[in-house]
Amino acid sequence: MELKCANCDVVFDNNGTRRKFCCLRCHVVGRTDCTPGLGPKGDCWHWLDSAAFGGYGQIRVGKRMLRVHRVVYEEFIGPIPKHNSYHGMCVRHTCDNPICVRPDHLVYGTQTQNIMDAVVRKRFVTGVKNKQTKISDRDVKWILWLHSQGNVTQKRLSKVFGVSKQHMSRIIHRKRRIL
Ligand SMILES: [Zn+2]
Ligand SMILES: [Zn+2]
Repeated sequence: MELKCANCDVVFDNNGTRRKFCCLRCHVVGRTDCTPGLGPKGDCWHWLDSAAFGGYGQIRVGKRMLRVHRVVYEEFIGPIPKHNSYHGMCVRHTCDNPICVRPDHLVYGTQTQNIMDAVVRKRFVTGVKNKQTKISDRDVKWILWLHSQGNVTQKRLSKVFGVSKQHMSRIIHRKRRIL
């Protein structure tokens, strides 16, 4: 069935599933509560879909249920390195709040690497191509956060979020009005 993505309004075919979002990024962004005041320090972003044992948010990707904070890490920051231990490399919450999906509250392994270094190096060269996207208010929050970390160029942000550089620049410069 053709329907509008619940995050970006792109029309897509959900192939008879109950999928409400056109892509994984929209699913993550669209089901995240960024209201100030969440979590121990009041700056967490909470996953709104189901949680698994231990309080970790879950997301359905195809037929599999995955831990959403790991998906967020891979989608927005970079690949999680493979590891031989039973659970593989873990992605930890620096906020100790398992339902949180805020990217800068996530680190993998024991490494307190600078997350934005990883963003710049790895992830933001990819993104959805040829997709005319409407940017939701939730997207704007993510964009402004990523941009505020420095080193993430508007060009990369525009690739990831599927809008022109000019449009991305407008979004970033309108932030005073939106927030
Ligand atoms: Zn979408
Ligand atoms: Zn958090």
